[in-house]
Amino acid sequence: MKIDCAIIDKNLDRCTCTYVACSRKGICCECIAHHRKKNEIPGCLFPEDAEKEYDRSIARFIEAVRGRGDKG
Ligand code: SF4
Repeated sequence: MKIDCAIIDKNLDRCTCTYVACSRKGICCECIAHHRKKNEIPGCLFPEDAEKEYDRSIARFIEAVRGRGDKG
C-alpha cells in the first residue's frame, strides 16, 4: 500500500516509540488504527520508561501514568 503523506519525516523526527521493527513508524494514522484495533494505546503516549516495555495495553498505560500528573 502506498502511503502519500507529506509529514512522515516530521512524524519520524518526533516519534518516541523505540520499537524499531515497525512498518507503521511515522505513519501515525496507521499506528493508531493498529493499536486501537487491539484495544491498545500507541507507544508515544506512554512515559519513556514504560514505553520501552512494549506493553501497549490500556491497563499498563493507566498503571504507568497514575500519579504522574503531567510529568509524563
Ligand atoms: S506504537 Fe506500535 S504501531 Fe506505533 S510506531 Fe510504535 S510499534 Fe509501531
